[in-house]
Amino acid sequence: MTDPEVVIVGAGPAGLVLAWMLQRAEVPYVLVDRQSRDRIGTLPKAGIVEYRTVELLRREGFPLTFDVENRRVEFRTPELRHVFDYADLTGDRPHYVFPQHRLVAELATALLAEGAPLLFDHAVTDVDPDRPSITAGDRTFTPRAIVGADGAGSVVARSLAGRVEVLDRPLASRWLVVSARTAPLVGHTIYAIHPRGYAAHLRRGPEETRFYLEVPAEVSGADLDPDDLRRDLAERLGEPGALDGVEIGVDDLDLRTRITTPMQVGGAFLVGDAAHLITPAGGKGMNLAVADAVELAHGLIAAHRGDPGRLEAYTDTRLPVIAETQGFSDWFLRVLSAFSTDAVGGSGSAAFVDAMRQGWVRRLRDDPLLARWFAHAYAGVDA
Ligand SMILES: Cc1cc2nc3c(=O)[nH]c(=O)nc-3n(C[C@H](O)[C@H](O)[C@H](O)COP(=O)(O)OP(=O)(O)OC[C@H]3O[C@@H](n4cnc5c(N)ncnc54)[C@H](O)[C@@H]3O)c2cc1C
Repeated sequence: MTDPEVVIVGAGPAGLVLAWMLQRAEVPYVLVDRQSRDRIGTLPKAGIVEYRTVELLRREGFPLTFDVENRRVEFRTPELRHVFDYADLTGDRPHYVFPQHRLVAELATALLAEGAPLLFDHAVTDVDPDRPSITAGDRTFTPRAIVGADGAGSVVARSLAGRVEVLDRPLASRWLVVSARTAPLVGHTIYAIHPRGYAAHLRRGPEETRFYLEVPAEVSGADLDPDDLRRDLAERLGEPGALDGVEIGVDDLDLRTRITTPMQVGGAFLVGDAAHLITPAGGKGMNLAVADAVELAHGLIAAHRGDPGRLEAYTDTRLPVIAETQGFSDWFLRVLSAFSTDAVGGSGSAAFVDAMRQGWVRRLRDDPLLARWFAHAYAGVDA
C-alpha cells in the first residue's frame, strides 16, 4: 500500500474538519484516533458555536445544519440581573447551539459513509517529524505531512519539543463541569458573578443542560456531596431549589492556557488544542480548532497542487487570531472568576476581586461601547 500524503492524528473537531476537506479535494490522507468509533466525542465539551465558525463551515459546504440560535446571556450578581441581547448588537448574528459530540458524530458518519480512511483504535506511539514518519497501532507511515490534531496531551506536539516554544499558564481555579438531565432553567445562558465563585447555566438540548461551578483548585467534584453541590450551584445562579433531585454527572476541569509557536516544524503541523489551550470562558476552543483546520486544509490542498505558499504561512496566519482570542477569553475570565486572577494574597484581596467583577457587569449594562465590543467578540462576529 502506498503511503498517504497526510496523516492526521485525532478525530476531534479539528481532525475531522481537516479530513473532510482533504477528502473533498482528493488529497490522499489517513486519519488515526486511539479511541473506538463509539467513544470519540463522548466527553462533555463545547456546545455553543460562534457565528463566524458557522459561516465558515457553511461556506466550505459542510453537511451540518445549524438551526438553534443562542442570542442572549444574562449576567447575575447578588445585586442585579441584566439580560443582554447580544445578537441585537451584532446585526442579528447570534451563536448557535451545537454540541461538540454532535459535530464529531455527524462528520465521522458522513466520512465513513464515503469509505474515508479513518482508523479508530489506533494510538500513535511514535512520531519522527524529520523523516517524517509516524507509528499508530500496527501501522507505520512515512507521509509528507503529519498533523497533530490530538488535543491537549498531543504526542505530535511532544515530538517537537525543543523546536517550538510552549507558553503555558496554569490558573488558580478549577471549574466543575456539571452535566444535568434537565431542561434548561431559562432559554438563554446565565453567568452568575457570585462572591463564592462563578457559576453558569448553558443550554445543550431539550433535556440536557450544562452548568459550571468554580471551586478552589484543590477541591474535586468527587469529594463534594451531590446535594450540597446542587444547592450551592442553584443558589449562586439565583435559582434556589431548582436543581433538587436532578440527575447530574460531574467532571473536574483545571483551567490552563497555552500557545505553541511556531505551529509547524518541517512536515509536522499542529491544530486545535494540540497547538493551544484556552479556558472555556467565552467558549472559543472548538472555534479556534475548526478555523485552524480549515486554514491548514487550504494550505495542504494548495501544496498538493504545487503551491506551498499558504502552507508555509500557516503559523503566521493563525497565531495573531489565536492571541487575540486568548486576550478576549482572559478578560472575560476576570469578569467571571473569583479565583483565577494573578494577584496572590493581600488583605481584602477576595473582596477587591469581587468588586471589580461586579464593576465590569455594571459597565456591560451601562456602557453601549463596551456592550457592542463584547457582543462582537463573544458571538464571533467581525465588526
Ligand atoms: C468542559 C469544556 C467545555 C468547553 N466548551 C467549549 C465551548 O463552549 N466552545 C468552544 O468553542 N470550545 C469549548 N471547549 C474547548 C473544545 O472542546 C476544545 O477546544 C476542542 O475539543 C478542541 O478540538 P481538537 O480537535 O483540537 O481536540 P480534541 O477534541 O481533544 O480531539 C483530540 C482527538 O485526538 C485523539 N488522540 C489523542 N491522543 C492520541 C494519540 N496518541 N493517538 C491517536 N489519537 C489520539 C483523541 O482520542 C481525540 O479524539 C470546551 C472544553 C471543555 C473541556
